[in-house]
This record gives sequence, structure tokens and C-alpha cells, in this order.
Amino acid sequence: MLSSAETAARLRDNLARIREQIATAARRSGRPAGAVELVGVTKYVDAAVTRMLVEAGLTDLGESRPQQFWEKAAALEDLYIRWHFVGHLQRNKLRRTLPFITLLHSADSLRLLESLSAEAGALDRTIDVLLEVNISGDAAKHGWQPAQLAGALPQIGNLPHIQVRGLMTLAALDGGLDRARRDFAALRELRDSLAVDCPPAIELHELSMGMSDDFTVAIEEGATIVRVGSALFAW
Ligand SMILES: *Cc1c(COP(=O)(O)O)cnc(C)c1O
Repeated sequence: MLSSAETAARLRDNLARIREQIATAARRSGRPAGAVELVGVTKYVDAAVTRMLVEAGLTDLGESRPQQFWEKAAALEDLYIRWHFVGHLQRNKLRRTLPFITLLHSADSLRLLESLSAEAGALDRTIDVLLEVNISGDAAKHGWQPAQLAGALPQIGNLPHIQVRGLMTLAALDGGLDRARRDFAALRELRDSLAVDCPPAIELHELSMGMSDDFTVAIEEGATIVRVGSALFAW
């Protein structure tokens, strides 16, 4: 067991290293470091370690399981945190989850978006979302099929309390970095083709792609948001 001072020091080192890797990859893709946002996925650690990460200077944090998310958000409500929800969200968990979220990365169906719009309206707010795309075609994954999306955008654009900001994906589990690069490039190309005839209410600027093992490749392929978990918490 590390002491909490040691844990905090490792977190600071890991965060500095990851930010440096992000900056280097961004420059390789012809963009400034600030063009890529780091979301720290804290699903592996408890509220105390999450607090240390915020104290180390990372305030964009992501969670993927509702129950754990509610508990952590409540335990850390004294801190300024922009929470990202990155996991599959069932409609019956929406009401309790929505009040905490800054950006939902995993909007994966029209039914979910319709419920989300209604709940956000009841809270008198608009919710920013990314449309999760199953770019690798993996049967176990959630998300829109790429071919479905163009047809769904007009309906999504009409939902009054939803603001689409872009797309999100997970690379195929197998296939290594080459396969991941192809998946990330495919998401960027899908975004570019959807942007040609996109309803005015919908923005597609953000591309949330890349995790601990592949975030530098994702940035080279145009990621604007990377979701990094285990690399932050490697002691
Ligand atoms: C867990 C998770 C991450 C972070 O994964 P790491 O490989 O640990 O960096 C990113 N995105 C989603 C959707 C996740 O569930």
C-alpha cells in the first residue's frame, strides 16, 4: 500500500506524463496541445483517490457505472468537477444521473435521447451529448450503426433540450493499434461526411476517442477528447 502522499505524487507524475504525450501527439497532428481535452476516467478508484486527482489539477472526470457515479459525485460535491458520463445509461437511471453530468458521451439510441430531452426539460436545462457510434461493428458494443446516423440526425436535432456536440467511439477490442487507428479514422470520416448535410441545430466538432492504450493514435486521427483511466492510476 502506498501512503496517500506517495499516491498523490504518483498521480501528479502520471498526469504530467499523459499531458506531455497529449501535447506531443497534438503537435504531430498539426494542432496545439489545448485542442485536445483530457477526461480522467475514475471508475477504478475510490472517492479519496479521485479527490487527489482533482487536487493534482484534473477537473474533467468520467465515470461509466451509474450507482458508483452517484456515490462519488455526492462524496465530492464540495469540489469543482466537470463530470462526463461515458458508459451505457439505461433510461431508468437517467433522472438520478442527469443533474451531475456536464457531457454525456454515450448517447446511443433515439429512445434514450428522447427521455433525456424530457428529463432535461423538467430541470429547465439543455444537456450536451455525444452520439456513440459502433464503428467497429462489434456485436457486444452499444452505439449507432454508422449507416443509421444520417437518417436519425433530423429527429435528434428536433429534440428541444439536447445539444449534440460530436461523436464518440471505442476502438475494436482486438486488432491492436493498427485496427484502432482505422476505427478512429473511420469515425473522423463519418463525422466529415455527416457534416456536409447536417441539421443546423447539431454540432459535430467533438470526437471523443482514445483510451490509455491508444490515445496518442486517436489524437493523430483527430480526437478532440481522450478518455484515459488506467494510465493515470498505474502506480
Ligand atoms: C474505462 C473506460 C475508459 C478508460 O479506459 P482505460 O483503458 O482504462 O484508459 C474510456 N472510455 C470508456 C467508455 C470506458 O468505459
